[in-house]
Amino acid sequence: MRKMLDAIAKAAANDLTSLAAHPEKLGPDTGIYPHSVAPLDAGLLMMARDDQAKFLVNVAPGKTGLDGDFSGETVEDAGLAARKIPLIHDNALALRGKFAWTAPVSLRERQTTIGCGDRLGLASAGHLRALGKYRAAPVLAQQSIRELTLTNREYPDVVDSAAFLVFQEGWQSGYGADGDHLKTLADIDRAIDAGMTMITLDQTEVMHAEAENYSAAQVESEFARLPGTVKDHILNTYAAKSFSFAGAEITLSDLEARRCALMYLDACDFTKTVYEHLKQCRGSAFDLELSIDETTAPTLPAHHLFIVRELELRGVELSSLAPRFIGDFQKGIDYIGDLTEFEAQFVAHCAIARAHGNYKVSVHSGSDKFSVFPLIGKHTNLRLHLKTAGTSWLEALRVIAACEPALFRELFDAAEHGYPEALKLYHITADFSKVPPLAAMSDAELGNYLELDESRQLLHISYGVLLQNKALAPRFFAAMHTHEDSYGDFLDRHFCRHLETLGVPKL
Ligand code: ZN
Repeated sequence: MRKMLDAIAKAAANDLTSLAAHPEKLGPDTGIYPHSVAPLDAGLLMMARDDQAKFLVNVAPGKTGLDGDFSGETVEDAGLAARKIPLIHDNALALRGKFAWTAPVSLRERQTTIGCGDRLGLASAGHLRALGKYRAAPVLAQQSIRELTLTNREYPDVVDSAAFLVFQEGWQSGYGADGDHLKTLADIDRAIDAGMTMITLDQTEVMHAEAENYSAAQVESEFARLPGTVKDHILNTYAAKSFSFAGAEITLSDLEARRCALMYLDACDFTKTVYEHLKQCRGSAFDLELSIDETTAPTLPAHHLFIVRELELRGVELSSLAPRFIGDFQKGIDYIGDLTEFEAQFVAHCAIARAHGNYKVSVHSGSDKFSVFPLIGKHTNLRLHLKTAGTSWLEALRVIAACEPALFRELFDAAEHGYPEALKLYHITADFSKVPPLAAMSDAELGNYLELDESRQLLHISYGVLLQNKALAPRFFAAMHTHEDSYGDFLDRHFCRHLETLGVPKL
């Protein structure tokens, strides 16, 4: 700290606050992140690092000039006083209090948003480097309950990590925070209490997916049990009716209208409850995404249409909706399926969204789908939310493979032993017998594991196994701290490739 203070005093030359406008004077060896240097009271606040960790530093001309809302140890030297502020929750709250732009916001009005998903709490800086070059807004903090469990995190930690990195990068144009795939009001409250602004409501437990496979007779008898007014409404509004959109014509048969009622009406009522709850908690400053992607069958455009019309009737305004698309959107690899078929259905999903409030079409498991990105960009007109998560974890492993080959071998070995456990939670079809054995790979070839689909998927699903490994996880995080710059570079390149292929315009 004293060395850092000496460097700051020297660069400041008696005008401490001038460093906020000229952070380059501090030089790269000080460990100070130049974009973070900001005026605070009579002094400055900045993000810095040493060999072990990152921390905030508050510097002022004297002890009384230090901000009392941050906690940490205080040092005086070179005519300055400084507080070394650890990156803990109370200090994150203080940071959000001083710099409102470090808190997540609603991105409802933004045309294109990218769910960046940072399971490690380390990736947002690299994401921002890429996103800063394009006309798209980032959702930096984003985790499902499953991811929280597998990474031993809680929502406050997820939001705090993003806020600290937003401050580090001086990113003032807003970011979102997504409580992903939430199914209950209790879990939604966990996310809202932590300051998350986007809720992705997963309907799988409130919809009746089993009705998808009912015979006509079963649909008939179940539908007959609904109240008379509901039956009348469904039959008058949907049965044997056609709906025309620019680029799509959708007809619901009598049977399909009844089936939709059985499948979705309870889910639409629950969505309305959640929407009202969000309005009560956050006014209009939230984004509600509806996710029906974790179902066994693709979402038919007719079903998408039924759901959004019913939500409209209930006064629910969605920011985005994630259908399950035809074909296979597996984690961390390209699209598997027929592009022509995909395009035909995708056009219909986009037309429905445009005609019903112009919410964003949301693409889950959206990373690395390079073969369908041009179609997705084109047909959404970039009114799009693309959700990614694990691909940034894979880029972290790419850093380890390149910079710490011995550690990578240990991680890979642990993944190979742990994957049966991981497979219980993720649907992938990779044939792991195609993964070349570690012993056959030279250090220079280890990066190839991040190219081959089968090993990508093996590593993708193993994040829980590896991050819960008490021997390996601390060494992994220490290595990531050492190679922070490489991680930023890799993520920058990887996300630029996503944005370019989608056709997002550069700034
Ligand atoms: Zn999803």
